[in-house]
Amino acid sequence: MKYVIVTGGVLSGLGKGITVSSIGRLLISRGYRVTAIKIDPYLNCDAGTMNPFQHGEVFVLDDGGEVDLDLGNYERFLDVNLTKEHNITTGKVYKSVIEKERKGDYLGSTVQIIPHITNEIKNQIKNVSEKSNADVVLIELGGTVGDIESMPFLESMRQLRTEVGPEENLVFVHTTLVPIMGVVGEQKTKPTQHSVKELRAIGIQPDIIVGRGIKMLSYDIKKKISLFCDVPLEGIVSAPDAESIYQVPVLLEEQGLTDYLLRRLGLSPRKPDLTKWKKFLKPLLNPKHKINIAIVGKYTYLKDSYISYMETLHHCSAETSTKINILWIEAEDIEKNGCESLKNADGIIVPGGFGERGIEGKISAIKYSRENKIPFLGVCLGFQLATIEFCRNVLKIGDADSSEFKKTRHAVVDLLPEQKEIKDMGATMRLGGHTVIIKKNSLAYKIYNRIKISERHRHRYEINPDYIKRIEKAGMKFSGKSVDRKRMEILELKNHSFFVASQFHPEFKSRPSKPAPLFLGLVKAAKKVKK
Ligand code: GLN
Repeated sequence: MKYVIVTGGVLSGLGKGITVSSIGRLLISRGYRVTAIKIDPYLNCDAGTMNPFQHGEVFVLDDGGEVDLDLGNYERFLDVNLTKEHNITTGKVYKSVIEKERKGDYLGSTVQIIPHITNEIKNQIKNVSEKSNADVVLIELGGTVGDIESMPFLESMRQLRTEVGPEENLVFVHTTLVPIMGVVGEQKTKPTQHSVKELRAIGIQPDIIVGRGIKMLSYDIKKKISLFCDVPLEGIVSAPDAESIYQVPVLLEEQGLTDYLLRRLGLSPRKPDLTKWKKFLKPLLNPKHKINIAIVGKYTYLKDSYISYMETLHHCSAETSTKINILWIEAEDIEKNGCESLKNADGIIVPGGFGERGIEGKISAIKYSRENKIPFLGVCLGFQLATIEFCRNVLKIGDADSSEFKKTRHAVVDLLPEQKEIKDMGATMRLGGHTVIIKKNSLAYKIYNRIKISERHRHRYEINPDYIKRIEKAGMKFSGKSVDRKRMEILELKNHSFFVASQFHPEFKSRPSKPAPLFLGLVKAAKKVKK
């Protein structure tokens, strides 16, 4: 088992996750089996309780893990399905150590950060690695070197290097920022030098440095970093801003990173095969058509909150050779100014979300797309609101609502009895992959071309079974249901260009070259309507 550990310096948000994902893709292109682990030094046990405004999207795995959005990038780049153990947090580590202490597992000893916490970190890493059956395990350490929270993890990585045997079994990659200063646009290496110094103080010498910046590192700058940071010139690579994140593997390959990395890991170089990847990139970068898709959200000020939606649209873009321009519409703006901002939309997405804010704006957008026959896709909250809109405006149940937002006589979206008993907030929603049964003779069946599918979920509320008959009688069909038929999963309207919504999140399973079917359906319909 070989390890590649990626740390970050200078500042956060450098795109470490994309570096890790790209390295993974490159190793796969040489025929190696790869897996990835994300370490988040925060105290939350998982990302499930975190506000998207602070931390971006909560990504959901097949096993129901609510994890950091970087795991979404790993799944998309590596084309693997990960489990919740692939996201290690300080909260998870401490929880496990404290539970062991209470059981008496450390009886007699004083329980300390070194060795108990650091051992726990290494054990969790080793357990996941062994289960994964990979040749190379990529580990991304969240945060920035120098953060107090990262210290125990860096110390564990330092220990790991000695433990895993010969030096060739573990490689440290450090990503840093190389900013440009002044009118002449000089690239500056000092922040990199300082952050490497910080790493070395902890006992870690990087083997590879990835320099982020708006342009390629010049030869002189690479040489300077190499000299000051004691890393061979071949180990200094550029990761300039790219038009698409999916170009990054190609950019790194062209600089010889994979050859160097494999040599450093003592693995044979093998011939690279990036054919499929490049085939995906080509139409993505040179699209023939163009459409506008509006996303009517409530966290649109932080685009990371909708990262899987954006990536899924990129996958659809490549598949249909269409540039998809996203119109970001904040639902509350619709409440103030009406649907004017949707005028140029060829398709409308109402994504998932929680809480009352912006709900009426989203419902107005749904009404607008239903009445004007603009292709519409609702996801999770969007699915629930499409049902509420239909009940209010077609069935004329004026106070139809969800009990998540209001006490109402007509809670057409409500908690099922078993969910009402739940008190804890952590990991208690209906989560992860569940089977959905699709009705034949439906649009959903046409799209999936299958009766049985599995998609990922993250919700507490459901369509209230008491209203289903009335809704269906008025023309809205639930074409997808749970296996026990108790939960509604997909809805659709006839006599419309495309009006579909799902209780599940199709965006979590979308991959380059395998776009999520419902999103692809929306994009195709939007293209058609535009013509
Ligand atoms: N808030 C809704 C629920 O809990 C929808 C959740 C979502 O959109 N992910 O059911």
